[in-house]
Amino acid sequence: MSGATDKTHETALRSWVESANGHPDFPIQNLPLGVFAPSVGGAPRGGIAIGDRILDLGVALSGGLLYGLAADAARAAIGPTLNPLFALGAAPRRALREQVSALLQVDGEQVGRAREMGGRLLHSSPDCNLLLPASIGDYTDFYAGIHHAVNVGRLFRPDNPLLPNYKHVPIGYHGRASSIRPSGTQLKRPAGQSKAADEESPTFGPSKRLDIELEMGIWIGRGNPLGTPISIDEAQDHIAGFCLLNDWSARDIQPWEYQPLGPFLAKNFMSTVSPWVITPEALAPFRIAQTPRAAGDPHPLAYLWNESDQARGAYDVALEVLLSSEAMRRQGIEPQRISASNVRHLYWTTAQLVAHHASNGCNLQPGDLLGTGTISGPTRDSLGSLLEITEGGRKPLTLPTTEKRTFLEDGDEVILRARAAREGFVSIGFGDCRGLVVP
Ligand code: MN
Repeated sequence: MSGATDKTHETALRSWVESANGHPDFPIQNLPLGVFAPSVGGAPRGGIAIGDRILDLGVALSGGLLYGLAADAARAAIGPTLNPLFALGAAPRRALREQVSALLQVDGEQVGRAREMGGRLLHSSPDCNLLLPASIGDYTDFYAGIHHAVNVGRLFRPDNPLLPNYKHVPIGYHGRASSIRPSGTQLKRPAGQSKAADEESPTFGPSKRLDIELEMGIWIGRGNPLGTPISIDEAQDHIAGFCLLNDWSARDIQPWEYQPLGPFLAKNFMSTVSPWVITPEALAPFRIAQTPRAAGDPHPLAYLWNESDQARGAYDVALEVLLSSEAMRRQGIEPQRISASNVRHLYWTTAQLVAHHASNGCNLQPGDLLGTGTISGPTRDSLGSLLEITEGGRKPLTLPTTEKRTFLEDGDEVILRARAAREGFVSIGFGDCRGLVVP
Protein backbone atom coordinates (compact mmCIF):
# COMPACT_ATOMS: atom_id res chain seq x y z
CA MET A 1 0.00 0.00 0.00
CA SER A 2 1.05 3.60 -0.68
CA GLY A 3 1.44 6.09 2.10
CA ALA A 4 5.12 6.43 2.90
CA THR A 5 6.63 9.87 3.26
CA ASP A 6 9.65 10.80 1.14
CA LYS A 7 11.88 13.71 0.20
CA THR A 8 8.93 15.68 -1.26
CA HIS A 9 7.55 16.04 2.29
CA GLU A 10 10.71 17.41 3.93
CA THR A 11 10.03 20.48 6.04
CA ALA A 12 13.25 22.14 4.90
CA LEU A 13 12.13 22.34 1.26
CA ARG A 14 11.70 25.91 0.01
CA SER A 15 10.50 27.09 -3.36
CA TRP A 16 11.81 29.87 -5.57
CA VAL A 17 8.11 30.71 -6.00
CA GLU A 18 8.21 32.95 -2.93
CA SER A 19 4.47 32.89 -2.20
CA ALA A 20 4.63 29.12 -1.68
CA ASN A 21 6.85 29.41 1.40
CA GLY A 22 4.47 29.59 4.35
CA HIS A 23 1.41 29.42 2.09
CA PRO A 24 -1.50 28.05 4.17
CA ASP A 25 -2.78 25.76 1.40
CA PHE A 26 -0.22 25.26 -1.33
CA PRO A 27 3.38 25.08 -0.08
CA ILE A 28 5.83 22.99 -2.11
CA GLN A 29 4.91 19.93 0.00
CA ASN A 30 1.32 19.90 -1.39
CA LEU A 31 1.45 20.21 -5.23
CA PRO A 32 -2.26 19.54 -5.94
CA LEU A 33 -3.52 18.83 -9.46
CA GLY A 34 -6.23 20.82 -11.21
CA VAL A 35 -7.63 22.20 -14.45
CA PHE A 36 -7.47 25.94 -15.06
CA ALA A 37 -8.04 28.45 -17.85
CA PRO A 38 -6.14 31.75 -17.99
CA SER A 39 -8.92 34.36 -17.96
CA VAL A 40 -7.51 36.13 -21.01
CA GLY A 41 -7.93 33.78 -23.93
CA GLY A 42 -6.71 30.55 -22.41
CA ALA A 43 -8.01 27.07 -23.10
CA PRO A 44 -8.62 24.74 -20.12
CA ARG A 45 -5.50 22.73 -19.24
CA GLY A 46 -3.91 20.81 -16.39
CA GLY A 47 -1.78 22.49 -13.75
CA ILE A 48 -0.30 22.25 -10.28
CA ALA A 49 -0.89 24.87 -7.57
CA ILE A 50 2.23 26.35 -5.98
CA GLY A 51 1.63 29.30 -3.63
CA ASP A 52 -0.42 31.87 -5.54
CA ARG A 53 0.76 30.50 -8.92
CA ILE A 54 -0.26 27.64 -11.17
CA LEU A 55 2.37 25.62 -12.96
CA ASP A 56 1.26 24.89 -16.54
CA LEU A 57 1.97 21.19 -17.15
CA GLY A 58 1.80 21.51 -20.94
CA VAL A 59 4.43 24.25 -20.92
CA ALA A 60 6.65 22.27 -18.53
CA LEU A 61 6.37 19.30 -20.88
CA SER A 62 7.05 21.16 -24.12
CA GLY A 63 9.91 23.02 -22.40
CA GLY A 64 11.61 19.69 -21.74
CA LEU A 65 11.46 20.05 -17.97
CA LEU A 66 9.88 16.63 -17.39
CA TYR A 67 11.01 13.16 -18.45
CA GLY A 68 10.05 9.50 -18.18
CA LEU A 69 6.92 8.61 -16.24
CA ALA A 70 6.43 12.22 -15.15
CA ALA A 71 6.34 13.29 -18.80
CA ASP A 72 3.73 10.56 -19.44
CA ALA A 73 1.68 12.01 -16.57
CA ALA A 74 1.98 15.59 -17.87
CA ARG A 75 1.05 14.48 -21.40
CA ALA A 76 -2.15 13.01 -19.93
CA ALA A 77 -2.90 16.32 -18.19
CA ILE A 78 -2.57 18.88 -20.98
CA GLY A 79 -6.22 18.66 -22.04
CA PRO A 80 -9.40 20.06 -20.45
CA THR A 81 -9.83 17.18 -17.96
CA LEU A 82 -7.55 15.07 -15.78
CA ASN A 83 -9.41 11.81 -16.53
CA PRO A 84 -6.53 10.52 -18.69
CA LEU A 85 -4.05 11.26 -15.89
CA PHE A 86 -6.29 9.65 -13.27
CA ALA A 87 -6.51 6.53 -15.48
CA LEU A 88 -2.72 6.07 -15.35
CA GLY A 89 -2.75 5.24 -11.65
CA ALA A 90 -0.28 6.04 -8.92
CA ALA A 91 3.21 5.55 -10.40
CA PRO A 92 3.16 8.33 -13.06
CA ARG A 93 1.41 10.66 -10.61
CA ARG A 94 4.17 10.04 -8.04
CA ALA A 95 6.89 10.58 -10.61
CA LEU A 96 5.26 13.88 -11.62
CA ARG A 97 5.16 14.97 -7.98
CA GLU A 98 8.86 14.18 -7.50
CA GLN A 99 9.99 16.01 -10.64
CA VAL A 100 7.77 19.06 -10.10
CA SER A 101 8.99 19.25 -6.49
CA ALA A 102 12.60 19.22 -7.72
CA LEU A 103 11.78 21.80 -10.40
CA LEU A 104 10.27 24.24 -7.91
CA GLN A 105 12.92 23.95 -5.18
CA VAL A 106 15.24 26.92 -4.66
CA ASP A 107 18.27 24.77 -5.37
CA GLY A 108 16.70 22.57 -8.05
CA GLU A 109 18.83 21.57 -11.06
CA GLN A 110 16.58 23.17 -13.65
CA VAL A 111 15.70 26.38 -11.78
CA GLY A 112 17.51 28.53 -14.34
CA ARG A 113 15.56 27.15 -17.28
CA ALA A 114 12.27 27.18 -15.38
CA ARG A 115 12.77 30.83 -14.37
CA GLU A 116 13.56 31.80 -17.96
CA MET A 117 10.17 30.44 -19.01
CA GLY A 118 8.61 32.81 -16.45
CA GLY A 119 4.98 33.74 -17.06
CA ARG A 120 4.46 30.99 -19.62
CA LEU A 121 5.26 28.31 -17.05
CA LEU A 122 3.65 29.95 -14.02
CA HIS A 123 0.29 31.70 -14.19
CA SER A 124 -1.02 33.98 -11.46
CA SER A 125 -3.93 32.11 -9.79
CA PRO A 126 -6.18 35.18 -9.44
CA ASP A 127 -5.92 35.63 -13.23
CA CYS A 128 -7.18 32.11 -13.91
CA ASN A 129 -10.54 30.36 -13.73
CA LEU A 130 -10.43 27.10 -11.83
CA LEU A 131 -12.59 24.43 -13.41
CA LEU A 132 -13.75 20.95 -12.48
CA PRO A 133 -10.65 18.74 -12.56
CA ALA A 134 -12.39 15.87 -14.32
CA SER A 135 -15.36 15.01 -16.44
CA ILE A 136 -17.42 13.20 -13.80
CA GLY A 137 -19.08 10.11 -15.21
CA ASP A 138 -20.78 9.06 -12.01
CA TYR A 139 -21.20 10.53 -8.56
CA THR A 140 -22.00 8.41 -5.50
CA ASP A 141 -22.65 9.83 -2.06
CA PHE A 142 -22.02 7.72 1.03
CA TYR A 143 -23.24 8.19 4.61
CA ALA A 144 -20.02 7.28 6.45
CA GLY A 145 -20.09 10.08 9.03
CA ILE A 146 -21.46 8.12 11.98
CA HIS A 147 -22.10 11.13 14.23
CA HIS A 148 -24.14 12.72 11.44
CA ALA A 149 -26.06 9.47 10.91
CA VAL A 150 -26.83 9.25 14.64
CA ASN A 151 -27.82 12.94 14.91
CA VAL A 152 -30.10 12.85 11.87
CA GLY A 153 -31.51 9.44 12.83
CA ARG A 154 -32.33 10.81 16.28
CA LEU A 155 -34.44 13.59 14.77
CA PHE A 156 -36.64 10.89 13.22
CA ARG A 157 -36.23 7.97 15.64
CA PRO A 158 -35.19 9.26 19.11
CA ASP A 159 -34.80 5.78 20.65
CA ASN A 160 -33.20 3.98 17.74
CA PRO A 161 -31.21 6.49 15.66
CA LEU A 162 -29.04 4.08 13.65
CA LEU A 163 -30.73 1.56 11.39
CA PRO A 164 -29.54 -2.03 11.94
CA ASN A 165 -27.50 -2.20 8.71
CA TYR A 166 -25.33 0.88 9.42
CA LYS A 167 -22.33 -0.83 11.06
CA HIS A 168 -22.30 -3.72 8.58
CA VAL A 169 -22.61 -2.05 5.19
CA PRO A 170 -21.37 1.35 3.96
CA ILE A 171 -24.64 3.13 3.10
CA GLY A 172 -24.73 5.19 -0.09
CA TYR A 173 -26.85 6.26 -3.06
CA HIS A 174 -26.19 7.20 -6.65
CA GLY A 175 -26.24 10.97 -7.04
CA ARG A 176 -26.13 13.14 -10.13
CA ALA A 177 -22.84 14.07 -11.82
CA SER A 178 -24.12 16.76 -14.22
CA SER A 179 -24.87 19.31 -11.49
CA ILE A 180 -21.48 19.23 -9.75
CA ARG A 181 -19.73 22.59 -10.01
CA PRO A 182 -16.39 24.06 -8.89
CA SER A 183 -16.01 26.43 -5.96
CA GLY A 184 -17.34 29.92 -6.63
CA THR A 185 -20.38 28.84 -8.65
CA GLN A 186 -23.55 30.54 -7.36
CA LEU A 187 -26.25 28.26 -6.01
CA LYS A 188 -29.76 29.03 -7.23
CA ARG A 189 -32.22 28.19 -4.50
CA PRO A 190 -34.04 25.08 -5.70
CA ALA A 191 -37.80 24.76 -5.85
CA GLY A 192 -39.55 21.53 -5.08
CA GLN A 193 -42.47 19.64 -3.66
CA SER A 194 -42.75 19.34 0.08
CA LYS A 195 -45.27 18.62 2.78
CA ALA A 196 -44.76 19.49 6.43
CA ALA A 197 -46.10 17.03 8.99
CA ASP A 198 -48.91 19.43 9.96
CA GLU A 199 -49.97 20.13 6.36
CA GLU A 200 -52.82 18.30 4.68
CA SER A 201 -51.33 18.20 1.19
CA PRO A 202 -48.02 19.04 -0.53
CA THR A 203 -47.11 22.35 -2.15
CA PHE A 204 -44.47 23.36 -4.73
CA GLY A 205 -42.17 26.34 -4.23
CA PRO A 206 -38.67 27.57 -3.33
CA SER A 207 -37.04 25.47 -0.61
CA LYS A 208 -37.32 27.08 2.83
CA ARG A 209 -34.91 24.66 4.48
CA LEU A 210 -31.79 24.92 2.33
CA ASP A 211 -28.79 23.31 4.03
CA ILE A 212 -25.16 22.38 3.55
CA GLU A 213 -23.34 19.10 4.01
CA LEU A 214 -19.66 19.14 4.95
CA GLU A 215 -18.06 16.23 3.09
CA MET A 216 -14.81 15.08 1.59
CA GLY A 217 -14.86 14.05 -2.07
CA ILE A 218 -12.83 11.09 -3.38
CA TRP A 219 -11.65 11.19 -7.01
CA ILE A 220 -11.40 7.75 -8.56
CA GLY A 221 -8.15 7.06 -10.41
CA ARG A 222 -7.72 3.74 -12.19
CA GLY A 223 -11.06 2.07 -12.84
CA ASN A 224 -12.08 -1.60 -12.75
CA PRO A 225 -13.68 -3.64 -15.54
CA LEU A 226 -17.39 -4.40 -15.18
CA GLY A 227 -17.75 -7.65 -13.26
CA THR A 228 -14.33 -7.44 -11.61
CA PRO A 229 -14.44 -6.18 -8.00
CA ILE A 230 -11.68 -4.11 -6.39
CA SER A 231 -10.27 -5.87 -3.34
CA ILE A 232 -9.79 -3.97 -0.10
CA ASP A 233 -6.02 -4.59 -0.46
CA GLU A 234 -5.96 -2.65 -3.74
CA ALA A 235 -8.67 -0.08 -3.09
CA GLN A 236 -6.33 2.74 -2.06
CA ASP A 237 -4.52 2.47 -5.39
CA HIS A 238 -7.76 3.35 -7.20
CA ILE A 239 -7.96 6.78 -5.53
CA ALA A 240 -6.45 9.72 -7.46
CA GLY A 241 -7.06 12.29 -4.76
CA PHE A 242 -9.42 14.21 -2.54
CA CYS A 243 -11.39 17.46 -2.43
CA LEU A 244 -13.95 19.26 -0.30
CA LEU A 245 -17.57 18.65 -1.21
CA ASN A 246 -20.58 20.71 -0.20
CA ASP A 247 -23.59 18.50 -0.85
CA TRP A 248 -26.27 21.22 -0.70
CA SER A 249 -29.55 19.72 0.52
CA ALA A 250 -33.18 20.85 0.65
CA ARG A 251 -34.42 19.57 4.01
CA ASP A 252 -38.09 20.27 3.23
CA ILE A 253 -38.05 18.38 -0.08
CA GLN A 254 -36.02 15.46 1.35
CA PRO A 255 -38.37 13.96 3.99
CA TRP A 256 -41.37 13.99 1.63
CA GLU A 257 -39.66 12.36 -1.36
CA TYR A 258 -37.06 9.98 0.09
CA GLN A 259 -39.17 6.94 0.86
CA PRO A 260 -38.92 4.27 -0.37
CA LEU A 261 -36.09 4.84 -2.91
CA GLY A 262 -33.82 7.38 -1.19
CA PRO A 263 -32.56 10.91 -1.91
CA PHE A 264 -33.52 12.48 -5.25
CA LEU A 265 -34.37 16.12 -6.04
CA ALA A 266 -33.49 17.30 -2.51
CA LYS A 267 -29.85 16.61 -3.39
CA ASN A 268 -29.24 16.77 -7.12
CA PHE A 269 -29.84 20.49 -7.82
CA MET A 270 -26.12 21.19 -7.29
CA SER A 271 -23.04 20.05 -5.34
CA THR A 272 -19.89 22.16 -5.03
CA VAL A 273 -16.31 20.84 -5.00
CA SER A 274 -13.01 22.52 -4.25
CA PRO A 275 -11.15 22.51 -7.58
CA TRP A 276 -7.72 21.19 -6.51
CA VAL A 277 -7.11 17.45 -6.29
CA ILE A 278 -5.11 16.78 -3.12
CA THR A 279 -3.18 13.63 -3.94
CA PRO A 280 -2.76 10.59 -1.68
CA GLU A 281 0.99 11.34 -1.86
CA ALA A 282 0.50 14.86 -0.44
CA LEU A 283 -1.63 13.44 2.38
CA ALA A 284 0.79 10.60 3.25
CA PRO A 285 2.10 12.32 6.42
CA PHE A 286 -1.44 12.79 7.70
CA ARG A 287 -2.60 9.18 7.54
CA ILE A 288 -3.65 7.71 10.86
CA ALA A 289 -5.20 4.56 12.26
CA GLN A 290 -8.93 4.14 11.79
CA THR A 291 -10.72 4.87 15.08
CA PRO A 292 -11.33 1.45 16.66
CA ARG A 293 -14.93 0.31 16.56
CA ALA A 294 -16.86 0.65 19.80
CA ALA A 295 -17.14 -2.47 21.97
CA GLY A 296 -20.06 -4.49 20.70
CA ASP A 297 -19.90 -3.15 17.13
CA PRO A 298 -19.84 -5.96 14.57
CA HIS A 299 -16.55 -6.87 12.90
CA PRO A 300 -16.74 -5.91 9.20
CA LEU A 301 -17.04 -8.74 6.69
CA ALA A 302 -13.77 -9.99 5.18
CA TYR A 303 -14.11 -8.07 1.89
CA LEU A 304 -14.00 -4.81 3.90
CA TRP A 305 -11.20 -5.76 6.26
CA ASN A 306 -7.49 -5.12 5.80
CA GLU A 307 -5.12 -4.74 8.74
CA SER A 308 -2.86 -2.16 7.13
CA ASP A 309 -5.90 -0.14 6.02
CA GLN A 310 -7.08 -0.13 9.63
CA ALA A 311 -3.59 0.85 10.81
CA ARG A 312 -2.96 3.62 8.22
CA GLY A 313 -6.09 4.17 6.13
CA ALA A 314 -7.77 7.07 7.93
CA TYR A 315 -6.85 10.76 7.58
CA ASP A 316 -6.30 13.49 10.13
CA VAL A 317 -7.70 16.44 8.16
CA ALA A 318 -9.33 19.30 10.06
CA LEU A 319 -12.48 20.72 8.46
CA GLU A 320 -14.23 24.06 8.89
CA VAL A 321 -17.53 25.58 7.82
CA LEU A 322 -17.73 29.37 7.58
CA LEU A 323 -20.85 31.44 6.91
CA SER A 324 -21.15 35.03 5.79
CA SER A 325 -24.42 36.89 5.23
CA GLU A 326 -24.89 39.76 2.81
CA ALA A 327 -25.15 42.17 5.79
CA MET A 328 -21.89 40.81 7.26
CA ARG A 329 -20.05 41.41 3.99
CA ARG A 330 -21.57 44.90 3.67
CA GLN A 331 -20.32 45.75 7.17
CA GLY A 332 -16.89 44.26 6.50
CA ILE A 333 -17.35 41.45 9.05
CA GLU A 334 -15.28 38.32 8.45
CA PRO A 335 -17.13 35.04 7.77
CA GLN A 336 -18.11 33.31 11.00
CA ARG A 337 -16.95 29.78 11.71
CA ILE A 338 -20.02 27.68 12.49
CA SER A 339 -18.35 24.27 12.70
CA ALA A 340 -14.96 22.56 13.06
CA SER A 341 -14.81 18.82 12.35
CA ASN A 342 -12.26 16.28 11.12
CA VAL A 343 -12.12 13.57 8.45
CA ARG A 344 -11.02 11.14 11.20
CA HIS A 345 -14.66 10.89 12.34
CA LEU A 346 -15.63 8.67 9.37
CA TYR A 347 -16.85 5.21 10.35
CA TRP A 348 -15.45 3.63 7.15
CA THR A 349 -12.08 4.30 5.52
CA THR A 350 -11.98 5.65 1.96
CA ALA A 351 -10.56 2.26 0.87
CA GLN A 352 -13.57 0.51 2.40
CA LEU A 353 -15.92 2.83 0.49
CA VAL A 354 -14.16 2.07 -2.81
CA ALA A 355 -13.97 -1.68 -2.16
CA HIS A 356 -17.63 -1.80 -1.16
CA HIS A 357 -18.74 0.19 -4.22
CA ALA A 358 -17.01 -2.27 -6.57
CA SER A 359 -17.72 -5.40 -4.49
CA ASN A 360 -20.63 -6.42 -6.74
CA GLY A 361 -18.60 -5.88 -9.90
CA CYS A 362 -19.81 -2.32 -10.46
CA ASN A 363 -17.25 -0.62 -12.70
CA LEU A 364 -15.76 2.57 -11.27
CA GLN A 365 -14.17 4.83 -13.87
CA PRO A 366 -11.40 7.45 -13.79
CA GLY A 367 -12.94 10.76 -12.74
CA ASP A 368 -15.89 9.27 -10.86
CA LEU A 369 -16.54 11.16 -7.64
CA LEU A 370 -17.49 9.61 -4.30
CA GLY A 371 -18.72 11.70 -1.39
CA THR A 372 -18.02 10.46 2.13
CA GLY A 373 -21.29 11.71 3.59
CA THR A 374 -21.56 14.55 6.08
CA ILE A 375 -18.64 14.51 8.50
CA SER A 376 -19.83 15.62 11.92
CA GLY A 377 -17.75 15.22 15.05
CA PRO A 378 -18.99 14.07 18.45
CA THR A 379 -19.41 17.58 19.93
CA ARG A 380 -21.89 20.48 19.45
CA ASP A 381 -19.25 22.65 17.73
CA SER A 382 -18.30 19.98 15.17
CA LEU A 383 -21.56 19.40 13.29
CA GLY A 384 -21.48 19.30 9.49
CA SER A 385 -24.99 20.48 8.59
CA LEU A 386 -27.41 23.21 9.73
CA LEU A 387 -29.99 20.46 10.27
CA GLU A 388 -27.80 19.24 13.15
CA ILE A 389 -26.47 22.64 14.30
CA THR A 390 -29.97 24.09 14.69
CA GLU A 391 -31.58 20.77 15.74
CA GLY A 392 -33.92 20.61 12.79
CA GLY A 393 -34.46 24.40 12.71
CA ARG A 394 -35.53 24.66 16.37
CA LYS A 395 -32.42 26.43 17.73
CA PRO A 396 -31.30 29.26 15.42
CA LEU A 397 -27.71 30.41 15.11
CA THR A 398 -26.94 34.05 15.84
CA LEU A 399 -24.55 35.82 13.44
CA PRO A 400 -22.31 38.75 14.50
CA THR A 401 -24.90 41.14 12.95
CA THR A 402 -27.52 39.62 15.36
CA GLU A 403 -29.21 38.04 12.32
CA LYS A 404 -30.66 34.59 13.06
CA ARG A 405 -30.20 31.52 10.89
CA THR A 406 -31.94 28.19 10.94
CA PHE A 407 -31.34 27.35 7.27
CA LEU A 408 -29.63 29.36 4.49
CA GLU A 409 -31.02 32.72 3.33
CA ASP A 410 -30.44 34.31 -0.07
CA GLY A 411 -27.13 36.20 -0.02
CA ASP A 412 -25.49 33.76 2.40
CA GLU A 413 -22.09 32.48 1.36
CA VAL A 414 -20.79 29.16 2.70
CA ILE A 415 -17.06 28.41 2.70
CA LEU A 416 -15.64 24.96 3.50
CA ARG A 417 -11.96 24.62 4.36
CA ALA A 418 -9.67 21.68 5.11
CA ARG A 419 -6.21 21.57 6.63
CA ALA A 420 -3.87 18.71 7.43
CA ALA A 421 -1.25 19.32 10.11
CA ARG A 422 1.17 17.11 12.01
CA GLU A 423 4.20 17.78 14.18
CA GLY A 424 7.34 17.51 12.09
CA PHE A 425 5.62 18.21 8.73
CA VAL A 426 4.55 21.28 6.79
CA SER A 427 0.78 21.63 6.95
CA ILE A 428 -1.22 21.73 3.73
CA GLY A 429 -4.73 22.89 2.81
CA PHE A 430 -7.32 21.91 0.22
CA GLY A 431 -8.20 25.46 -0.97
CA ASP A 432 -11.70 26.93 -0.54
CA CYS A 433 -14.99 25.33 -1.48
CA ARG A 434 -17.36 28.33 -1.75
CA GLY A 435 -20.92 28.91 -2.80
CA LEU A 436 -23.20 31.96 -2.64
CA VAL A 437 -26.96 31.36 -2.38
CA VAL A 438 -29.04 33.43 -4.82
CA PRO A 439 -32.83 33.50 -5.30
MN1 MN B 1 -24.49 14.04 1.31
